[in-house]
Amino acid sequence: MPPNTQRNTPNADGVAESLSYAACTGIVVVREGVGLTHAPLTYWPSAVQRSCYEEALRITPTLNLLIHAISRDITFLSEALAQTAKADSGFTGRLLDLAQKFPVTGNIELSICRFDYFLQALHLRMVEMNTIAASFAALGARTANLHRHLALHPTAKVDYADQGITRENLPDASVTAPVQIAVAIAHAHHCYVDANSHISDAVVHPVVVVQPDERNTIDQDALRLELWNQHHIHMKRITLLQLADATIDDERCLRLPSGAYVSVAYLRAGYVPTDYPTNAEWVARARLEEANIPVCPSAAVQLTGSKKVQQVLDAPNVLERFVPDPSMAAAIRATFASQLSLDPSDNAEAHAKLAIDRPDDFVLKPQREGGGNNLYGNEMRDALLDMTPQQRSAYVLMERIRPTTTHNALIRDGQCTPTQVVSELGVYGIIVAHHGKVLLNDTAGTLLRSKSALKDDGGVAAGVAVLDSARLVD
Ligand code: ADP
Ligand code: MG
Repeated sequence: MPPNTQRNTPNADGVAESLSYAACTGIVVVREGVGLTHAPLTYWPSAVQRSCYEEALRITPTLNLLIHAISRDITFLSEALAQTAKADSGFTGRLLDLAQKFPVTGNIELSICRFDYFLQALHLRMVEMNTIAASFAALGARTANLHRHLALHPTAKVDYADQGITRENLPDASVTAPVQIAVAIAHAHHCYVDANSHISDAVVHPVVVVQPDERNTIDQDALRLELWNQHHIHMKRITLLQLADATIDDERCLRLPSGAYVSVAYLRAGYVPTDYPTNAEWVARARLEEANIPVCPSAAVQLTGSKKVQQVLDAPNVLERFVPDPSMAAAIRATFASQLSLDPSDNAEAHAKLAIDRPDDFVLKPQREGGGNNLYGNEMRDALLDMTPQQRSAYVLMERIRPTTTHNALIRDGQCTPTQVVSELGVYGIIVAHHGKVLLNDTAGTLLRSKSALKDDGGVAAGVAVLDSARLVD
């Protein structure tokens, strides 16, 4: 039977209600030339297999420990990234230098990660592990609340019922990412204050390090508000450039020109080369790494989340070295899509040939974050053919995942367009450690982002994906 297009299209009142709810609850981003506007959204929550959802939550604490263990193994990181650091010397190379120069050994460590998966039939397929600036914790949680609201609201409940969606399908809203992430930052802050008694009479606060032209400010400010409301901690916004004037005292504590000390540096910047337009930003990053504060993430944790390290982990017995429990290692490995090295010493020629011969089966990934950087299909093939072996080693090849498509409607700029989408489930993980000993390790809520099934790359900030939430199906 052909789909009933009428019933697959949201009614105008339901869309208006979505937009009103988004404004009232702050599901908003800054748009250049416009100012604050609603973030792009789905009308319905997209289907996620309950077993996949629960499995993704279950393996998260082990993934947190995996990131933690790798980041402390600087020999492993240096070997894994040796070629990549040469090929991408201005970014990966500089971060690796910092990680080698300033080990985190005795520091308090804080990581806020997000593990992203495509859903392919009944399987979770990991897209990537984000170890820096994993965003949308707050806006994602608000979008889940929007969908919960619409499921019962008179304007939308018929549309929801038509798609078989009831409130009972929507996951428990009690654990939300912003609440948990604020708990992790507060925990690291208090540990730091306790461990540095000589600054206890001074003003000490965490900072969130932001891009000067950030558009996703409300997602960040929602975390600041949560920290203030629940923990009475003021987290100041600061740019890398402003941090260049900070100093380090004899105990390696980081002091701002205002005289206040920094307890935690939570980076929502510093993940792309354009965040370091001059040497001053690199000076600031080095100062953060040199200080005894938890930098979320340290250069080592940031590099652990690089595409190259994720490719190396997929090689036989590498993941297993860092995950002592064989059943957990097997559960994580079951989510991996295969990845191939483009290091000249590592069969690069044969791997590149595979991708050139079958361009639709691979994705070419550079050491970049934030969406819009990968190459696909013929564009990928042509790029590979144009590159020298040295240039290729700045990238990795990944099996192209073909996620399951579902029906939804995307609301952008107030306009609603029904379409087939694919969804990417993100699970936040938080970990705090001191002297390498883990003090807090938890799963911290989820995010769902969806994009038109016709698009290759993703990313909400990159303008492709939109905020969604999960509806669990058995
Ligand atoms: P980043 O978000 O750091 O730019 P990702 O690895 O998440 O890098 O890739 C960006 C987007 O590209 C993903 O959100 C996804 O839509 C798409 N993508 C990434 N890896 C694959 C893959 N193996 N198969 C299909 N699509 C992919
Ligand atoms: Mg991504």
